[in-house]
Amino acid sequence: MKVLSVNAGSSSLKFQMYEMPEEKVLISGTFERIGLENSFYTIKINEDKIKKESNLSNHEVAVQILIRELLENQVIDNLDEIKAVGHRVVHGASKYASSVVITEEVIQDIKSFSDLAPLHNPANVMGICAFIEAIPNAIQVACFDTAFHQTMKEERFLYAVPYEWYTKYGIRKYGFHGMSHKYVSEYTRELLDKEFCNIIVCHLGNGGSISAVRDGRCIDTTMGFTPNAGIVMGSRSGDIDYSIIPYLMKKTGKSIDEIDQELNKKSGMLGLSGVSSDFRDIDAKIAEKDKQSIMAHYLYVNSIVGYIAKYYVELGGVDAICFTAGVGENAPHVRRMVIDRLNCLGIKVDRSKNDEIRFGKEGIISTEDSTVPCFVIPTNEEVMIARDAYSFI
Ligand code: ADP
Repeated sequence: MKVLSVNAGSSSLKFQMYEMPEEKVLISGTFERIGLENSFYTIKINEDKIKKESNLSNHEVAVQILIRELLENQVIDNLDEIKAVGHRVVHGASKYASSVVITEEVIQDIKSFSDLAPLHNPANVMGICAFIEAIPNAIQVACFDTAFHQTMKEERFLYAVPYEWYTKYGIRKYGFHGMSHKYVSEYTRELLDKEFCNIIVCHLGNGGSISAVRDGRCIDTTMGFTPNAGIVMGSRSGDIDYSIIPYLMKKTGKSIDEIDQELNKKSGMLGLSGVSSDFRDIDAKIAEKDKQSIMAHYLYVNSIVGYIAKYYVELGGVDAICFTAGVGENAPHVRRMVIDRLNCLGIKVDRSKNDEIRFGKEGIISTEDSTVPCFVIPTNEEVMIARDAYSFI
């Protein structure tokens, strides 16, 4: 049975087609620069990667080309073979605690949450509408990035601000990267072979978040009302003292939008190092003993260690700590620096195992006598979306 997993952005559309329940990827691809000049798409099938220039004027055109490629490459003989399409949706607000079959009401809800995710939710709706029109017989399922974190309790998701900010305006911590935290924590529970267990998941990518998961349910996470909160990220600041914003506005005459942009796009590792938001570039500078890049690295590690320590206590001890996403999967030195700081809890890194595990490998990176096992688990948000979509068939 064939299921599509879709992630639609404002100018991009990524997809994977799975044979379910085997979870075999039959074809995958990305449409880029939709609605812009020089648009193109890449398709990966049987290890072959094909890039094609194409005029992708909107998401509907991209979906039509996708379907044509599926037919021409004989992945499907007709559209009715596609039984479900799972869509990544960034914001489900407080209403959606799990994936749902998309109805007109769900579409209206996703649109109405656009104030909370102005860059993402409208694009997600465009993707959904294009697939409903193109493949009307398939079940369309919305998989929310926020849903996994809906199990947090009020005392964890509220900010200490007037309560009516929450009741009137929805000001609260929502958390993001939910599909990744869910995938990695479920995978780790299976590895541990324990139904009841406490897991800390460190999703360290360009964006980054950490979550505390008890018995498969999220109890706390670092991202907040928006994905800007929490740990230091590639180009986002993570937690800061909010008073910096009015102070800077007065000092520089910059508008709130300009400062917002700088906190989003020019801060984090990029802002601190002055080099790049990408760890590979910063590492190259560290090799040249660039002081600012070295400091940025320490600051990044500090922010992660701080949250691991907090969640260790909140959970009352942990059964596993997991690293995932671009940095978590591929940067052994970051993992080593983090775990070395946890030595006071008896958590120890196995240096040679840690150095070996990268580029898509999974495994344990802690020593045998470490009080808590540490794992690298490559994330797979796409399969999580396909699983959720498949579950409704
Ligand atoms: P996102 O999904 O948030 O865009 P990813 O999870 O794909 O991000 O992570 C991308 C980041 O991972 C890059 O910006 C880079 O900092 C880091 N990264 C990727 N490969 C490596 C590597 N080999 N060594 C160090 N860092 C890496």
